[in-house]
Amino acid sequence: MIIQLHQEIAAVQKEAIVKKALTLQYKTTEVKTQHGNYLVGIGKSEFDIRELGHMEGIADIHIVSDNYKLVSKKWKVKPTAIDLGDGVAIRSGDLAVMAGPCSIEGEEQVYKTIAHLKANGVKIMRGGVYKPRSSPYSFRGMGIDGLKMWHKAAREAGIKIITEVMQVSQIAEMHDYVDIFQVGARNTQNFNLLDELGKVDKAVMIKRGISGTVDELLYSAEYVFSGGNEKLILCERGIRTYETSSRNTLDLNSIPVLKEKTHLPVVADPSHGIGIREYVEPMTLASIMAGADGVIFEIHEKPEEAYSDGQQTLNFKESETLIGKINKVFALRESL
Ligand code: PEP
Ligand code: MN
Repeated sequence: MIIQLHQEIAAVQKEAIVKKALTLQYKTTEVKTQHGNYLVGIGKSEFDIRELGHMEGIADIHIVSDNYKLVSKKWKVKPTAIDLGDGVAIRSGDLAVMAGPCSIEGEEQVYKTIAHLKANGVKIMRGGVYKPRSSPYSFRGMGIDGLKMWHKAAREAGIKIITEVMQVSQIAEMHDYVDIFQVGARNTQNFNLLDELGKVDKAVMIKRGISGTVDELLYSAEYVFSGGNEKLILCERGIRTYETSSRNTLDLNSIPVLKEKTHLPVVADPSHGIGIREYVEPMTLASIMAGADGVIFEIHEKPEEAYSDGQQTLNFKESETLIGKINKVFALRESL
């Protein structure tokens, strides 16, 4: 059950609701976000909603049968839009395009990428400054100095930044230089990190865990929302299966499934999803037809020289071709 409270509810009114819910065998947790004040009630008993409905301070009550509550579409049918400012948003019925290198490597790369994005109408740039790498000897990112350099260039160009935060201690130092915090596939169930991102007033994109289920992804989002941050985006980035012909298996099924289960926007990452440059284009277009609200993919001026993930990275020419097709396929989808 989700009880939406009036913003100006008095403490005594809230206490009375919590007590009443307990008599109905519902234990409540209070959640205060940028947009709302809620009591999330966990319990099993059936009760007459009118027993609570008349109480002072309640704006609305919703019965949510899913185990995750705040991210469920059962109480919030209207899709959530993530507004990044300056007319840039990620929302249902629109298509957000995010592109950039796997890793931020230096100033020249950043300026060239921004020029490419601007020429192609892309408003959100991806790039890692803290990189989760399988081997400790691989390039692990430029860190906070790289982010500051990137941020300066991106702000001048009017480009928004999405980048991965790997641990709690990085949140504060990164905060002012980031538009969307990305939670990587290896951190989807880092619940301490999710708790802390709940306290931040910045958008958070959570990637699906490498072996994670759709419901586990939704629970991860529930952590951030119940921590106080509603600005959430979910990302399908492929899962590990028994298939060895591609790096991961991009689970296109999850896109319509997530769109049905949650009011949050859903983005696809075909670069990590298939891991092979030649197939990034068809999987991007397929993701759009499957209903994605956005796509994120890796680009580099010279993918063969990229510090990470070059094998799945498009060059600028391929990226330009793909963006042209993205626009066509999105228009087709909307016309159906
Ligand atoms: C990335 O976006 O570069 C990345 C490391 O992604 P994932 O967490 O999905 O592996
Ligand atoms: Mn990558």
